[in-house]
Amino acid sequence: MGIVIAIIGVLSAIAVPSFAKARARANMRACHANQKTISGAVEMYNMDNGVSVTTLDEALANELVAGGYLTAKVNDPGGGRNSFNHYQLTEENSGITCTEHGSRTKGSGAAVASAGGGNSTSG
Ligand SMILES: [Zn+2]
Repeated sequence: MGIVIAIIGVLSAIAVPSFAKARARANMRACHANQKTISGAVEMYNMDNGVSVTTLDEALANELVAGGYLTAKVNDPGGGRNSFNHYQLTEENSGITCTEHGSRTKGSGAAVASAGGGNSTSG
């Protein structure tokens, strides 16, 4: 009897940390998927309204939902209720980052700034 309990104890000691890790990984992936969704919604909102929003706040989130850009205010996976505020706009237009899980695109310098060549059309 004692040996069975000991074996169960050892097995759960092995399993619990790996479950926790898998869960954290799943939350991060889901969070990054949410960032992509929110980014797209913000982009569409910007285009439709001819604006360029700079802050992702409660009011904008409500507008995104009201305008049908988002079906619901998404929560940060693992962040609990009302964790939409984990998502923030980054410097680049409609780039989203999370205060818990970081950005979808790891902050490596992949951004290319185009210089010069101002093509302005007037009409
Ligand atoms: Zn997150």
